[in-house]
Amino acid sequence: MANICVIGSSSMDLVVTSSRRPGAGETVLGESFKTVPGGKGANQAVAAARLGAEVVMIGRVGDDTFGTDILENFKANRVNTSNVKPVTHSESGTAHIILAEGDNSIVVVEAANREVTPAYVDEAAEAIRNADIVLIQQEIPEETVIHVSQLCAEYKTPLLLNPAPARAVPQEVIDNASYITPNEHEAEILFKGMKPAEALRQHPNKLFITEGSKGVRYFDGNEEVLVPTYKVEAVDTTGAGDTFNAAFAVALAEGKSIQDSVRFANRAASLSVTKFGAQGGMPTRDQVEESL
Ligand code: ADP
Repeated sequence: MANICVIGSSSMDLVVTSSRRPGAGETVLGESFKTVPGGKGANQAVAAARLGAEVVMIGRVGDDTFGTDILENFKANRVNTSNVKPVTHSESGTAHIILAEGDNSIVVVEAANREVTPAYVDEAAEAIRNADIVLIQQEIPEETVIHVSQLCAEYKTPLLLNPAPARAVPQEVIDNASYITPNEHEAEILFKGMKPAEALRQHPNKLFITEGSKGVRYFDGNEEVLVPTYKVEAVDTTGAGDTFNAAFAVALAEGKSIQDSVRFANRAASLSVTKFGAQGGMPTRDQVEESL
């Protein structure tokens, strides 16, 4: 069984639907409201656990009811929360989402996720040492991403960096990572001034650019390969990248080849877009295998 350590953000998404978005100083009546657990770190931890991995989450919540709900959601999904400690002087991370006029507007408040610091990660260093693979994203402080990359290099634990949301990354982190999985926009920010084909060629079997409904592109040492994803009726693509990263990590940790791991991750991610919500659509192991 794959042992995965996820280091990243956890939040509660507060989602309002409205026929119109309010302008400055304006109040409008909304149609519905719901709270759903989110955050890229939490999403990837839940997705990996649904796919059968043993998952240790390193993250933080606030000392509010959202924190309690986020922890309960982890437990309901079999994610180990011994390294998700409440911050006593902060709220939980939240995302305030307005769905209106066919588009969304989002305000993210990082709050407790700012406290996923290098010193905090050091308290959980054993989980990094013992993992088959470490999965990290960029909704936590940059110095933590750098520090984790150094720990992984020291422990020889493979590191999968999902460089989302888009942010430039020091060369050291690129060097220390075993796998890097930007979408097309994130790849542009990461390898500024470089054409995608050139970036891929410089990072054989390491850089995997996800291209939505087209699939995933990488350079296998000889040639550029596009692994197509599966054709599905897309309902909500939120969390597609999170499911892809989790599934890719699980497959790699199980020793599958790179090509098979990409295929497995495409299958899992394509299933996730057929249902509403980031975590709502994340498939179980059986669902992926039945449809491979
Ligand atoms: P992100 O969600 O991070 O922007 P992408 O849009 O590139 O990333 O999606 C990540 C992966 O999810 C893709 O590589 C693909 O495997 C899968 N995926 C995304 N959108 C679709 C879709 N419409 N149909 C099938 N698979 C999809």
